[in-house]
Amino acid sequence: MRKLIAGNWKMNGLFAQMDDIAAITEAVAAYPAVDTALCVPALLIRPAAGRFADMAIGGQDCHMSVSGAHTGCISAEMLADAGARLTIVGHSERRAAQGESDADVRGKALAAQAAGLSAIVCVGETEAERDAGQAEAVVLGQLAGSLPDQATGSWLSVAYEPVWAIGTGRIPSTEDVAAMHGAIRAALVARFGAEGNAIRILYGGSMNGDNAASLLAIANVDGGLIGGASLKAEKFLPIVAAAAAA
Ligand code: PEP
Repeated sequence: MRKLIAGNWKMNGLFAQMDDIAAITEAVAAYPAVDTALCVPALLIRPAAGRFADMAIGGQDCHMSVSGAHTGCISAEMLADAGARLTIVGHSERRAAQGESDADVRGKALAAQAAGLSAIVCVGETEAERDAGQAEAVVLGQLAGSLPDQATGSWLSVAYEPVWAIGTGRIPSTEDVAAMHGAIRAALVARFGAEGNAIRILYGGSMNGDNAASLLAIANVDGGLIGGASLKAEKFLPIVAAAAAA
């Protein structure tokens, strides 16, 4: 399976950072065997997608409705209209801060598909849940509730992102990543049959140029969702290179 390395710029990036997007786009062109994407702030989608057509530009969230009285929200169709090819849905920061439920995330994924976008559906346990021995149950519960029945590998990826690993510099052990990705794969195959093997499972949480090769070598790790290390080409490129070599 081709690996996907997707950057998540979160609420970082002004028009002045278009040069950083240009640098990333130019550099990833050297790795055609890896699928790459940059999920930028919504206001940068149009200029970035228009200028850097070779790299997939994505959003970080979408509303589950097509249109309507949802002040401040952005629909999947609007993302597509601006040139996005994908969107993240259900990131743990939104689940926590905006109170998004699994049903919300499922609705958002379906809205993305209806608009012709790919979706990266995020799941992941908190540190307290892991310490309580509930990590797998929590993640598989989120997966069951957040994935629509229409999920296929052609448009949907799962991102396993332990909340305690995001932005902290901490990552799970190789054994824990292997166990969780294996459990997610088994759940996908149980629900979707052979198609469950075609759905990419990304790892996210403090992935960087130093740990990417070992994380991407783990079975069922089909790519990465990268926050902090996606903001600059010199940090992002070693991860893409590691994916190309994996
Ligand atoms: C993320 O927020 O999706 C993420 C993985 O962040 P970081 O790489 O900074 O831990």
